[in-house]
Amino acid sequence: MSAMRILVLGAGFGGLELSTRLSEQFGQDIDIVLIDQSEGFIFGFSKLDVMFGRKPASDVLHPYRDIDKPGLRFVQTTIRAIDPANKRVETDSGAFEGDIMVVALGADLDPSATPGLLEAGHEFYTVPGAFALRDVLAAFDGGHVVVGVTSTPFKCPPAPSETALLLHDYLTERGLRDRSTISLVMPLGVPIPPSPAASGALLLAFAERGIDWHPGRLITSLDPERKVAVLSEGAAMPYDLFLGVPAHRVPPVVEESGMTVDGWIPVNPLTLETAFPDVYAVGDVTSVGTPKAGVFSEGQAAVVATQIASKLHAASTPVTYDGHGTCYLEFGQDLVARVSVTFLSGAAPVGDLEGPSAAIAADKVEFGTSRIQRWFSGIS
Ligand SMILES: Cc1cc2nc3c(=O)[nH]c(=O)nc-3n(C[C@H](O)[C@H](O)[C@H](O)COP(=O)(O)OP(=O)(O)OC[C@H]3O[C@@H](n4cnc5c(N)ncnc54)[C@H](O)[C@@H]3O)c2cc1C
Repeated sequence: MSAMRILVLGAGFGGLELSTRLSEQFGQDIDIVLIDQSEGFIFGFSKLDVMFGRKPASDVLHPYRDIDKPGLRFVQTTIRAIDPANKRVETDSGAFEGDIMVVALGADLDPSATPGLLEAGHEFYTVPGAFALRDVLAAFDGGHVVVGVTSTPFKCPPAPSETALLLHDYLTERGLRDRSTISLVMPLGVPIPPSPAASGALLLAFAERGIDWHPGRLITSLDPERKVAVLSEGAAMPYDLFLGVPAHRVPPVVEESGMTVDGWIPVNPLTLETAFPDVYAVGDVTSVGTPKAGVFSEGQAAVVATQIASKLHAASTPVTYDGHGTCYLEFGQDLVARVSVTFLSGAAPVGDLEGPSAAIAADKVEFGTSRIQRWFSGIS
């Protein structure tokens, strides 16, 4: 009898964690096909490392060709069509069909959705955008910097706050801080709504560093002529350097699959099942209710692994999703804090804060290296 085939679409946080868990548990007794169009995996936080010159771009790409796991085959190709009813995809390398399909294709970014952003500003959420900013920042000679979010939802809600704090350090080290301003425009009322402690610590850090905090607003456009960022209520903010978070949406192939409702894939928040039998979705591509961040995609993938295992082994008990995630938060000055948040518990989301400290900065490094070890190496 041939092994059950699991088709995993997308090798980001969610797809890598799911494939690793299934390979660990079933080895050659399962047939996992993991598909991604990219050459390798890059952590979201590595974009900030490259942009601020803390790491070279060549150090942050983890090539998928290094994946070496029993029962798992990685295919680098672009998915062109998804047929959820038949658990089948069309790709540039032909068609693939599975007994079970898991959509983990993340959120795409659309800088062109914000008028003026491409012509008169920069964005730090795509890999090319963040990597190009390294040279842009190196050539910057001081002035008004605006860090701004253009639409909701957006990945890693702490990332714009981290960017403002790291920018403060960067401009200070280069002797440019005195002749620069930093303004942070965010749609949220506080930096991290579920954690009053984390929000309070960030607001204090902004105040101590002279970072101007503009809550509850979005950037709707940039006006290249006047060199101003236009805010949602019509106000104009002058800038010399604009660093934006672009609009997010599902990849076009997901939109065309008919799986989305109001822009994202709805799932059962406990099991991550979609409306289609034996089709699951995890991570940023869903509307599950947690923030769009890798740690939540990873937690959802772990649950789907148990759901799939229970289909393969009647004795295996499926686990349901608890909406828990722990995020690291860069405070600048080489200090990192940790925020643990729980969503979906039936009550308002809650979160606590540890740090910031140098010890947690070391933990963040370990968080990254341990994932690369588990996801890529045959010995896990
Ligand atoms: C600046 C920044 C900092 C961040 N910091 C953190 C952090 O500190 N902690 C944290 O947890 N999260 C962080 N994030 C968020 C995190 O990167 C994402 O939320 C996470 O990667 C989502 O995981 P995912 O598996 O849902 O999707 P992704 O990791 O985005 O994976 C989706 C995959 O699908 C592939 N794909 C898409 N379309 C196709 C197609 N048609 N064919 C084939 N392949 C396709 C993509 O190539 C991609 O590899 C950060 C993000 C940014 C931008």
